[in-house]
Amino acid sequence: MTIAKSANTWFQLPLETKLEYKSKLIQLHGLKCNRMNGNGCGNYFPFDMLTIDHIIPISMGGPVCEVHNLQLLCFRCHKRKTMNIDNKGRAFEFAARHRISEKPH
Ligand SMILES: [Zn+2]
Repeated sequence: MTIAKSANTWFQLPLETKLEYKSKLIQLHGLKCNRMNGNGCGNYFPFDMLTIDHIIPISMGGPVCEVHNLQLLCFRCHKRKTMNIDNKGRAFEFAARHRISEKPH
């Protein structure tokens, strides 16, 4: 089986593959909603309450199957992050610009 590197490959991955990624993330970080990128609440959840999130969204060119671009979020935080991105569209670019403007002169 070949996995094509098209934009929406993630949604076409078999469930088992996604569960492997999820187990991998749990091994690395524990059963925790990831707070390190400012997206999650940092609380612990049961396995079924955690979802896999792409830190840099696929729609913004983030790598699809790269563990470093994946994080665990609870349903609520995942939904909130997705809504924020959908609403603001350029949230990530804005954040990047903001950081640049904060650089000392
Ligand atoms: Zn959360």
